[in-house]
Amino acid sequence: MFKRIVLLGPPGAGKGTQAKLLAAKNGLAHLSTGDILRDEVARDTELGRKAKGYMNRGDLVPDGLIIDMIKGRLAEKSGFILDGFPRTVTQAEALEKILSIDVAINITLSREEVISRLSSRRVCRKCGKIYNLLYNPPKNEGVCDACGGEIFQRDDDKREVIENRYDVYMEATAPLIDFYEERGLLKDVDGSQPTEKVSEDILAVLGR
Ligand code: AMP
Repeated sequence: MFKRIVLLGPPGAGKGTQAKLLAAKNGLAHLSTGDILRDEVARDTELGRKAKGYMNRGDLVPDGLIIDMIKGRLAEKSGFILDGFPRTVTQAEALEKILSIDVAINITLSREEVISRLSSRRVCRKCGKIYNLLYNPPKNEGVCDACGGEIFQRDDDKREVIENRYDVYMEATAPLIDFYEERGLLKDVDGSQPTEKVSEDILAVLGR
């Protein structure tokens, strides 16, 4: 089975949800640069202070900061799922120098669907579980089913920011589809399907 996995796709395609499922079932490390950065912001670290403005606008944090941040965390891992990294060709080239990956799974989703999903996305502040008010709401409003934590809306899941994030994705990140295609590593999965079906399709790609 493939063990060094990159998840590509626009914001809201389900990378975080799928990465959590895959990591739990297959003993792989889940590395989400977005989650790491949000934690740095919450702890008000030097990196967090540098990253915050970019994140709130839906812009990308500069490549140098991201590459330094991820380098050390990848070094000792034999199997991992990268969620939200790489996000630019510069980051993908830096990753190639650190180690090789087995597969890049591109979870596809239309612009309309991205906007609708992100506006209704909510996240547990405590355990990070992802909800969607339309398809997968928590049983009790505002309370996480898994851990009882508070459910909130990310600052960058507000309408104006969502549209910018999609534009940034198209400009900076979508070129990675060709980048991995050229290396024979790309596999597409239709992200508009229900979570369980997307998960099955990913497992099929991974050779399970
Ligand atoms: P995400 O949770 O993956 O949607 O990431 C949230 C925000 O964190 C993004 O909109 C960016 O501002 C920043 N971010 C996360 N990963 C990266 C990355 N690989 N490169 C640059 N910025 C990133």
